Amino acid sequence: MPLELVTLRCLRDNYAYLLHGPEGTILIDAPEAMPILTELEARGWGLDAILLTHHHDDHIQGVEAIVAKTGARVIGAEADAHRLPHLDQQVRPDQSLQLLGQQIDVIDVSGHTVGHVAFYFPQSGHAFTADSLMAMGCGRLFEGDPDMMWASLSRLAALPNDTLICSGHDYCAANGAFALSVDPENAELQQRLSDVQASRTPCAPATLELEKATNPFLRVNALRGRLDMQGADDAQVFARLRKMKDEF
Ligand code: ZN
Ligand code: FE
Repeated sequence: MPLELVTLRCLRDNYAYLLHGPEGTILIDAPEAMPILTELEARGWGLDAILLTHHHDDHIQGVEAIVAKTGARVIGAEADAHRLPHLDQQVRPDQSLQLLGQQIDVIDVSGHTVGHVAFYFPQSGHAFTADSLMAMGCGRLFEGDPDMMWASLSRLAALPNDTLICSGHDYCAANGAFALSVDPENAELQQRLSDVQASRTPCAPATLELEKATNPFLRVNALRGRLDMQGADDAQVFARLRKMKDEF
């Protein structure tokens, strides 16, 4: 039986996600309690577990109130246990856990922060990437360096093409504008941007295949020549693009 995914707008531009199946409901990141509790109540769902991707406030500050109300178990990375809310279960990259009949693979996606993890559900094909791989973009490098983020994006890019990338923010407009500036002749990117403008639906999730076709940070090979970096390796091209985005 397929899981139902609910994308929730929180705070100014955060996304939180509910994954609901026959055995219960999982929340991925908790930017604020109110919209999440309201949605759970409207659907008549309890909450069994909260998966945390990284320690930034805008991903965890709803945890306490949501736990108080639902009794959900909180799961996050062992390496970040000291700066996350209380964890009932600590996980490590490359570990697989079982929850509500689902296998969940923990993937190290350090770069935005060191200790950031993504959660991949191979049975349903969802990957919760938060501030690593985003729709047409990737997170800023606050703690890690370009090599680290490039390695993280490469791990995500190795997932099946039909994986649904569920990222942490709606940065669609800004990411799309930057993508178009470095990749103006990309017809699939142009199409994606006009689709986003035409609909009022969130720009995440999107398939990994679409990200590979439109996300400049996954298109280092296609953009290498444009950036005049023929001799550079992938991580160097990525680093240049990330720097250009920071200054865009
Ligand atoms: Zn963050
Ligand atoms: Fe964030």
